[in-house]
Amino acid sequence: MTEEEYKKFNHQCIHELQDHQAKLWAEHDLDAYPRWDYDQHTALLTFSDNDEEINFRFVEVGSFSEKSNTWKWAWDNAYVLEKVKKETFAVKEFGEKNDIKELSEGYFEANEADGWAITAVTCKLLGGIGAYRPVSDHLLVFMVLMEVVDNKEAQKIKNKVAEEMIFCDCHGKGRASFVCQHLIGKGTAAGFHEAFETEQGMDLQEDDSFQAWCNECEAERLKQGEWNDENIAFANIKVVCESCYFEMKERNSEQ
Ligand SMILES: [Zn+2]
Ligand SMILES: [Zn+2]
Repeated sequence: MTEEEYKKFNHQCIHELQDHQAKLWAEHDLDAYPRWDYDQHTALLTFSDNDEEINFRFVEVGSFSEKSNTWKWAWDNAYVLEKVKKETFAVKEFGEKNDIKELSEGYFEANEADGWAITAVTCKLLGGIGAYRPVSDHLLVFMVLMEVVDNKEAQKIKNKVAEEMIFCDCHGKGRASFVCQHLIGKGTAAGFHEAFETEQGMDLQEDDSFQAWCNECEAERLKQGEWNDENIAFANIKVVCESCYFEMKERNSEQ
């Protein structure tokens, strides 16, 4: 795609997004709700008042910093959970294939209008139904709305996430994760064995959680062939937040 062709495509996407926005606001009168909030853990953007609410599943596109006048793609941002950014990798790929710098570079100087232009292209490529741009500190967060989630389903998702969360003194809200007692603290190189391959922020299957144990626990487990009362007592599993878990993984994994 030449620069000229991309400009034309982008222009078309912006017009389509404007049409989406007009339709969305006409259908749902989103400005009438006094409250909105969103949560990466549920991937839901919720507009509400005392009687009613409406929920959208969102994809985080990226953020524009008013402080540094820069754009950062969600796919380039370790603080954005996999759940709300995984679809944006398709946009990056499209950018790489067509040699479009603003879609394939993670972080660059920009202005707010660039944020909207990028969001419009993302909305088009992902088949979104609109966009929203909340402000968080000095960051303008751009999101594409993918679909309306009915209230019952949204409540189910929120309840499930609430169950999985614990509050950590260091990191705030995070998914409950499980480690053997020997991994607790600031120790290093104790080994780090897991039930399955993990990555911070990844989606987990229903009933799965992050679980890890040290070399000593692994030796006990292998000796006895499986987890049993004895080696489970030795492991003495503790609950930590997801961020703590991945800090421990970093410190204790064999290089
Ligand atoms: Zn252990
Ligand atoms: Zn923590």
